[in-house]
Amino acid sequence: MPPLSQVDLRSHSLERFRGIVEADAFERARATLARSRELLDGRAVWHVNSTAEGGGVAEMLRSLLAYARGEGIDARWAVIAGNPDFFRVTKRLHHALHGSAGDGSPLDEAAARVCRETLAPNVEALLAEVRPGDAVVLHDPQTAGMAPALMAHGATVVWRCHIGTDDLTPEAGRGWAFLAPHVRDAPLRVFSRRAYVPPALDDARSVVVHPSIDAFSAKNQELDEASVRAILTRAGLVAGPAGGGAPCFTREDGSAGTVERRASVLREGGAPAWDAPLVVQVSRWDPLKDHGGVMRGFAAFAARPEGADAHLVLAGPDVAGVSDDPEGGLVLEALKAEWRAFPEPLRARMHLASLPMDDIGENAAIVNALQRHARVVVQKSLREGFGLTLTEAMWKRRPVIASRVGGLRDQVTHGEEGLLLDDPTDADALADALSRVFRDGALAAALGEKAHARVRSQFLGIRHLTEYHELINGLLA
Ligand code: UDP
Repeated sequence: MPPLSQVDLRSHSLERFRGIVEADAFERARATLARSRELLDGRAVWHVNSTAEGGGVAEMLRSLLAYARGEGIDARWAVIAGNPDFFRVTKRLHHALHGSAGDGSPLDEAAARVCRETLAPNVEALLAEVRPGDAVVLHDPQTAGMAPALMAHGATVVWRCHIGTDDLTPEAGRGWAFLAPHVRDAPLRVFSRRAYVPPALDDARSVVVHPSIDAFSAKNQELDEASVRAILTRAGLVAGPAGGGAPCFTREDGSAGTVERRASVLREGGAPAWDAPLVVQVSRWDPLKDHGGVMRGFAAFAARPEGADAHLVLAGPDVAGVSDDPEGGLVLEALKAEWRAFPEPLRARMHLASLPMDDIGENAAIVNALQRHARVVVQKSLREGFGLTLTEAMWKRRPVIASRVGGLRDQVTHGEEGLLLDDPTDADALADALSRVFRDGALAAALGEKAHARVRSQFLGIRHLTEYHELINGLLA
């Protein structure tokens, strides 16, 4: 297994954001990156993580680093390699930082050795490339153990942690006891929420930067209504006719993509008609996304006059063939059993859609179209860090309903940019919130507009990149 690979990055000009974000935010970004260029004086900014594909972190890096390069920063992305044992330990750590036990294996000296042995050749390969004075941003637990060697080498090291839990459960305590020593001396550690900073690292060198979405990706780019309809019809998520549009989208490299594949949908009868209002939740098949609770809330809502025409679409990645997510398959099977227990007229209005994953761009375009077509987007998670799906829907001016948990509270102010459910397990509260939004079109539109404005000012990549570089500039200066 060759350690460490570098990911090819594109280069995009920040100019795309002119006219999208406020003028002062745009100027601040430009000035910050210009200052970085000056301070770096030809040195590189490295980002290091453990996967080039799949997951929010990889998606964010691909897009943010392209803008950094577009502004003349020598941004690089290195991906470490590891064996299954290493990824078992880091998965265990990942669960621990979320407060759960994962496979319950001990986070002991043997686990530490597995990490050291995997990281050693990666560090060696990285040190051959990184020059003293380069900035290195290490992402997530997998790379934390590389921090001391890079600092000793003279790099300016930042550790970026994308996960966490609001309260320090004993499991989280164990995870942090394992991890914190590696990054305690790093000049900066960056978290997604203040509540995620563990006591062991709770000092001025731990700062908060919120995640972001890419407004121009296949997932979030503008799609006109005709394309939305064509994509959803092609994917089998709404009934034909497809209308006059083409099921097309623009890929990251600028080339044209077409949605070809159909979603695999568990349903009773046909797809919803184009004009049937949709309640949508897009999530991985994970118990913490509480799909069952969404179905129960929808069932209560569907019995009311304002819910009489509505359909529910629960969409997630196709797990058939995805060998590294056995958990997702099991969750979906359990969910199908729950679905079968509903009476037939309700089943006819609840669709469990597995979206094709063969082509990531196509998958993203389907998610995009589904979110745009939704009357309401729900994220009824029982726990959540920063919910990207919520931000994606808000960018599309959808009224959103989310649980008042974790990072979702940072994303939405109740009654302003969406509605929050105080008790994430209360299905009737979801039904009430759906009723409110369905009955009051003016409220729905106002929530959607404010949601879009909130994302524009706080949750786009340009703000994210600016904050990273403000921090790096602070260290370099
Ligand atoms: N997602 C996707 N295809 C799917 C289901 C989900 O691309 O079939 C994406 C979704 O659009 C979002 C991400 O997966 O960008 C999930 O991120 P989120 O923060 O909402 O939840 P997580 O999966 O990190 O718990």
